[in-house]
Amino acid sequence: MNKRDYYEVLGVEKTASKEEIKKAYRKLSKKFHPDINKDADASEKFQEVKEAYEVLSDDQKRAQYDQFGHQDPNQGFGGFGGGADGFGFEDIFSTFFGGGTRRRDPNAPRKGDDLQYSMNIDFMDAVFGKDTEVEIPRDETCETCDGSGAKPGTKKKTCSYCEGTGQLNVAQDTPFGRMVNRRACHHCQGSGEIIEEKCRTCRGEGTVRKLRKIKVTIPAGVDDGQQLRVAGQGGPGVNGGPAGDLYVVFRVKPHKQFEREGDDIYLDLPITFAQAALGDDIEVPTVSGKVKLKIPAGTQSGARFRLKGKGVKNVHGYGVGDQHIIIRVKVPTKLNEKQKQLLREFAEISGDIPEEQSSSLFDKIKRTIKGE
Ligand SMILES: [Zn+2]
Ligand SMILES: [Zn+2]
Repeated sequence: MNKRDYYEVLGVEKTASKEEIKKAYRKLSKKFHPDINKDADASEKFQEVKEAYEVLSDDQKRAQYDQFGHQDPNQGFGGFGGGADGFGFEDIFSTFFGGGTRRRDPNAPRKGDDLQYSMNIDFMDAVFGKDTEVEIPRDETCETCDGSGAKPGTKKKTCSYCEGTGQLNVAQDTPFGRMVNRRACHHCQGSGEIIEEKCRTCRGEGTVRKLRKIKVTIPAGVDDGQQLRVAGQGGPGVNGGPAGDLYVVFRVKPHKQFEREGDDIYLDLPITFAQAALGDDIEVPTVSGKVKLKIPAGTQSGARFRLKGKGVKNVHGYGVGDQHIIIRVKVPTKLNEKQKQLLREFAEISGDIPEEQSSSLFDKIKRTIKGE
């Protein structure tokens, strides 16, 4: 049930003196006294007047009521759970106005904003690292006004709305009663000061947006999506606080030959049918240059070779990855007459039909069942 305002019940102004309140109470208590008034709701009204007087005649209770509104003794303050929860008036009071954990001094030094920047880098630059520069737009302290936002030679004046505190009390009627909150003063943005004449360079903002070149060292071994913190290169600090940090997120472009997985490199290596059958010594590319690889005779398509330590140096210094080579045997597609003739002869001589083809259907089924 919504209670009526106590001042309204007694028909007095909020600024009423103790004497005026007492007078109003006497008049109304007589009017609604059940012994005198025989109206159906007289008793209820009498109780209402009595309660209003009990609160408004007591300095401390009146002050609490002025700040927080009605209190239901059965529900604890403002309906925030009962006294059983230990959430009493004192707790609420300290939450709003107490030790200042919630209140922030608007003029205290604050760290600037952190910025994030996505940087596209080449595959090899990620592997070996590189010193580079980025150009990023960011807010910098205005040099004209030194960040104050006020025109040089003019002064800021104390905000008259909040009297320089930067905070305003905002009363709000809620289903639990009247709540008073402290909010940042919107006239001065919580700073407690108002700029009389704005700096022309920054229009009173105290910061200007500038393109700034920042040196970034791509760490060797960095992988796609990893980020680097460049300390102190974020947004400018507020009220003399330190600047924020810049986070560079690396986006590594794919390579046309190599694929990377962690610190390992994968390479698909096509070889000819003859190289696979006869074996060969070949050169294969790695991220750090060409290396020799022996292809043994009879190498099948899909065979893998590992070049130890030919991968990527770990970005945190934990060793070096490997390069894995996956062999792809290329079947010739355009054969001239002579090649065809030689292959036919080859087939005839070898009589070499793969086992799978020669097997009977029965054998195949058996293998399938055995899961081979
Ligand atoms: Zn300025
Ligand atoms: Zn203000």
